[in-house]
Amino acid sequence: MKKTKLLFIVLTAVLFACGDSKTADASSEVQVITEEIVAHENTIDEQLKGDHESLKQIEFIDQNPIGKSSRSNPVTYVKAYDDIRALYTSLPLSKSRGYKAGVFSFNIDGGRCDTCQGEGEVTIEMQFMADIHLLCEECKGQRFKEDILEVKYKGQHIADILEMTIEDALNFFKEDEKNRIAKKITDKLTPLFDVGLGYVKLGQSSNTLSGGEAQRIKLASYLAKGDRHQKTLFLFDEPTTGLHFHDINKLLYAFNALIDQGHSLLIIEHNPDVIKCADWIIDLGPEGGKNGGHLLFEGTPQDLVKSKKSVTAEYIKP
Ligand SMILES: [Zn+2]
Repeated sequence: MKKTKLLFIVLTAVLFACGDSKTADASSEVQVITEEIVAHENTIDEQLKGDHESLKQIEFIDQNPIGKSSRSNPVTYVKAYDDIRALYTSLPLSKSRGYKAGVFSFNIDGGRCDTCQGEGEVTIEMQFMADIHLLCEECKGQRFKEDILEVKYKGQHIADILEMTIEDALNFFKEDEKNRIAKKITDKLTPLFDVGLGYVKLGQSSNTLSGGEAQRIKLASYLAKGDRHQKTLFLFDEPTTGLHFHDINKLLYAFNALIDQGHSLLIIEHNPDVIKCADWIIDLGPEGGKNGGHLLFEGTPQDLVKSKKSVTAEYIKP
């Protein structure tokens, strides 16, 4: 949070959100904040000075799944799969057989298994019970036809790649330093590793990822873009929910990377370790819902610890 002037805009909106609703959860507050900023953009501009005009867009990074389809996964979300398919298409066996990138897709007919349509499993709908998922007999869960799996890069076929963790895949592709496409793949996978997702499999279906993991994949996709021109205000709603201490550090690292790219962050958070790292804190309270919404403190973490009014001050004292 670099721009204090900008935070005044948001502060007004936060007070509006908290004061007006008794049970509103944080994500609907974020929704209100976003709408307020957009609705009052022109009047705010008249009242404020500073370089807040350099902000070109607002992005709310929530914990909703990265895709509804069981075929969406981390590697497709950050667009690294396009390069992986390009790499497999460039191999001698692919060229001699005339394979195009599409045969390495599990979304379209061609190279994918016809029986499970690239899902690796078949779903049997039960009338009175939950659906049953069975391993596909035809491809044994490998998602592709046998002849497609004959195409190997450094001994691994496309289904092996999808089974790799992000960390393993990074090491695997990094070994091939001179390969331009392998370099593009590692460039796109690195942000996923940086936000603490090294353990997630490349082809892991989005519906098996937690909300916190989905959120960090979205964050990684912005880091991968490395867009320093479209300055963005990122809004986060308790991003540390469900995260291990170790992963919180990685998340903070990713936040700093966004700030280094010139973006600003507004985070709704209760975690003292995150609050301590802010440049500017707006402490609302003293409680939630109708007993909250009052400004208890505004300023730097160093000044917050001296505040008598703030409850948060107790928690962030060194
Ligand atoms: Zn199959």
